[in-house]
Amino acid sequence: MPLGNGSRIAVIGGGPAGSLFSIFLLGLAERTGRRLAVDIFEPRDFDLPGPAGCNMCGGILSESLVQSLAADGIGIPPTVVQRVIDSYVLHMDVGTVRIEPPRRDKRIAAVHRGGGPRGIGEPRWRSFDAHLLGLALERGAAAVRERVTGVGIDGGRPRVSTEKGTRSGYDLLVGAVGVNTESLGLFEALGTGFKAPGTTKAYVAEFFLGQETIGIHLGGAMHVFLLNLPRLEFAALIPKGEYVTAVLLGREIDKPLVDTFLSSPQVRACFPRGWTPPADFCRCSPAINIAGAEKPYADRVVIVGDCGVTRLYKDGIGGAYRTAKAAAATAALEGVSEDDFRRHYLPVCMSLSSDNDVGKAIFRITGLIQRMPHARRGLLRMTAAEQKSRAGTKRMSGVLWDTFTGSAPYRDVFRRFIHPLFLGRLIWETAAGALPARKRDLREGES
Ligand SMILES: Cc1cc2nc3c(=O)[nH]c(=O)nc-3n(C[C@H](O)[C@H](O)[C@H](O)COP(=O)(O)OP(=O)(O)OC[C@H]3O[C@@H](n4cnc5c(N)ncnc54)[C@H](O)[C@@H]3O)c2cc1C
Repeated sequence: MPLGNGSRIAVIGGGPAGSLFSIFLLGLAERTGRRLAVDIFEPRDFDLPGPAGCNMCGGILSESLVQSLAADGIGIPPTVVQRVIDSYVLHMDVGTVRIEPPRRDKRIAAVHRGGGPRGIGEPRWRSFDAHLLGLALERGAAAVRERVTGVGIDGGRPRVSTEKGTRSGYDLLVGAVGVNTESLGLFEALGTGFKAPGTTKAYVAEFFLGQETIGIHLGGAMHVFLLNLPRLEFAALIPKGEYVTAVLLGREIDKPLVDTFLSSPQVRACFPRGWTPPADFCRCSPAINIAGAEKPYADRVVIVGDCGVTRLYKDGIGGAYRTAKAAAATAALEGVSEDDFRRHYLPVCMSLSSDNDVGKAIFRITGLIQRMPHARRGLLRMTAAEQKSRAGTKRMSGVLWDTFTGSAPYRDVFRRFIHPLFLGRLIWETAAGALPARKRDLREGES
């Protein structure tokens, strides 16, 4: 089932996965001398501020994603990048340590997915999703500003219907609807064996502080919190242009947990003295993919991005990039049959999925450290010592950096974590951290 000249493709969802799929597919088709007709169905206007234009996310683009996009000729202009993240600051109840990037030539970017938080005045930056969708349209895709309400297969060919009408006769149906939509059920109802991903509820909030105040209190650093709060696996404050984005990930993040987090002394210390959350601010509780979908492909159907398989907790946009690129390469160069996707697309999904299993183990270990004060102190001491020294391998700093940024596969992080020198040093620092305070002070004074 190859795609030929004039083949029609329906991409449902114009977030990163849908736009990147279209960019790669159209690029490959052009290089192989074919003209394809790609319709991207997306009801959202990503230039609008607030929920209407936003795909609800922390907005961190990992180093590896920025590099991969650049290598594919997909630049992210300064008008889209709200801030270049220059370091991470890790906050725990036992202390705080700044982690400098292990690879100085690489950069992490902070972006807004839509036109900015609700209540923003004149937006000064462009939306990341609008930028990618714009690139797909430049490559020749057509935007259909409508929500898809039905998909089906008629006579072996996909059919798509929207509230306003039906467009049938597609050669390939691409699901890129994310996980924050009822539309996942449409793909399950196709009866191809697709089962939607497992999700949990996360939290994002945008606080206006103004550029100057952000510069003083948070600088260009992303602030990460390892606090001993039940159900919280990861929390961060991300400085953007005029706003700070708070992101909480874990199991079913609810209001009491958010309130406890925001009122903790470690979080308050990142805001101006006396700051309290305003009565009203832009916030949301989006679903996040924590378990990949089953069978994200069939004859003439492929599911990419969050609604298929993606990276656990970190670098979800990087996950969308990988699945979109692999699915587009399969469709353009191999064909669109179930067998083509099984042979050429499934391995990428499996690789992400097995890496996520390792990721789950890493987050369990992090959870243990969060609950053990001596281990927290050991981690802090080891990181601080590495950051102070100019020479030597910065084992803990590298592990933390890559875990927080999602810049390296989890299996790579885990391999470094179980290295005897890493574990030996962590156990040593934990034991030293467990000494009674007076003895510890003497020891720290000696070193
Ligand atoms: C709290 C939180 C923080 C996160 N932080 C980060 C981060 O810092 N960095 C990172 O890389 N990732 C992060 N992620 C993950 C990231 O948001 C996702 O991985 C990414 O958005 C996936 O892109 P996507 O295109 O698959 O889905 P989405 O971005 O969800 O896009 C899906 C699109 O489909 C459209 N759509 C849905 N239904 C229909 C329909 N019926 N018809 C037409 N269109 C439809 C929607 O309007 C939407 O535009 C975070 C996620 C959460 C929940």
